[in-house]
Amino acid sequence: LSDGLQSAFKSLSGKGKLTEGNMRDGLDIVQKSMLEADVSYSVVQDFMKRVSEKALGKRVLLSLRPHEELVNIVHSELISILGPVDPSLHLKSEGPTIIMLCGLQGSGKTTTCGKLSQLLKEENIKPLLVAADLQRPAAIEQLHVIGRQLDVPVYSEPDNKDPVAVCKAGVDKARAEGARVVILDTAGRLAIDEELMSELKRIDKKVSPDQVYLVVDGMTGQDAVNSAGKFNETLELDGVIMTKLDGDARGGALLSVKHVTGVPIKFIGTGEHFDALEPFRPEGMAGRILQMGDIVAAAREAHRIVDEKEREELEAKMASGDFTLDDFKNMMEKVAKPGLMGRMMGLMPGMGQFKDVLESDEASKGIKQTIGAINAMTMEERSNPKIIDAHRRTRIARGAGVQTPVVSQLIKQFDVMKPLMQGMAGGGMGDRMKMMQQ
Ligand code: GDP
Ligand code: MG
Repeated sequence: LSDGLQSAFKSLSGKGKLTEGNMRDGLDIVQKSMLEADVSYSVVQDFMKRVSEKALGKRVLLSLRPHEELVNIVHSELISILGPVDPSLHLKSEGPTIIMLCGLQGSGKTTTCGKLSQLLKEENIKPLLVAADLQRPAAIEQLHVIGRQLDVPVYSEPDNKDPVAVCKAGVDKARAEGARVVILDTAGRLAIDEELMSELKRIDKKVSPDQVYLVVDGMTGQDAVNSAGKFNETLELDGVIMTKLDGDARGGALLSVKHVTGVPIKFIGTGEHFDALEPFRPEGMAGRILQMGDIVAAAREAHRIVDEKEREELEAKMASGDFTLDDFKNMMEKVAKPGLMGRMMGLMPGMGQFKDVLESDEASKGIKQTIGAINAMTMEERSNPKIIDAHRRTRIARGAGVQTPVVSQLIKQFDVMKPLMQGMAGGGMGDRMKMMQQ
């Protein structure tokens, strides 16, 4: 190993675990990013607390800076909070499955009725749509337009002022006609009010929907928490559909809504057309909310090439001082794989400067000579280099076809390196060494 590499290892020691101190920067970055994504402040606070408790004491791969390791943990945590995935409409095998859509005005309920119809039609199921928004004058006609476009029936009673009665009659009709699915397009208001909530409650009581979905506008920010909380208190929600995620919105509202309702996020709407409905994918959404794709990708890659078990074995060896020239050789052989060094160095902060040196012909010649020299040693010499006197040195050099100073240099380097490694093993040095092994 070059002197430069040794000192780089040295400067990277002591960063082995996430501590309150070294997490602070990372937590700040994450918090800022989530607030910018419009996650509600209180939800961000809860989340940060949860993540820092989880991350504290976690091992940092030596190839990563603490904040990178933290972002990786945050990303995984986001995925687990946003899940589970459940895009099923849970259709019953008998009788119509009643799906009720609710949400604030303009959130996308009526459009989503069309999108769900399209989805069902692809399964050869023709739903009956019920026009239960009697608040907006044009709402009934809007649903009829969608029904004509998609060739699905729409039930409406233009002169009836009671949405509960309309829903009941619509469901009865679906039952009488043997429809598999009936979707209730309910009214919204610009903001939550008691009248809306009591109306929804009465519909819920009267027709007992099988699935109640809250439709949320993905562009809403801080308000999302309050309204979702109210809807969830009033109705027993079965899922959330978030619309308008085709724009710039980073979708932080989704995390807020998930946090307050706890129900699965079923779909996301990504456009005005009927086919713009996608099953929810937590990975994509976590990335979008966090917007630290580069860091996450680097961290994933670093974790991918580190085999935990091998790493622990090597680290134990190093810590106990059992690390031999044979282990060193194995390490070198793996490092000597073409291209790996560069990739590895690219992942290691502060190591980029060594990339060229380590990938140079000279370095690879050096590594080959080192491996050759160790190969020329007996097993005893490999585990106990102290016994290698001048006589043995000459023998080894001749066997490996190298000059004697190459062997002396190797033994000297190993002498310096071994205690260094031993001291660092507890501090996460093994991670880096494991990377060297691949
Ligand atoms: P409702 O009041 O809840 O029934 O909302 P609407 O279904 O009438 O939708 C309100 C507006 O949002 C309409 O202009 C829709 O075209 C639009 N909209 C709904 N969903 C989406 C979506 O996923 N993406 C985009 N870009 N627009 C949407
Ligand atoms: Mg509507």
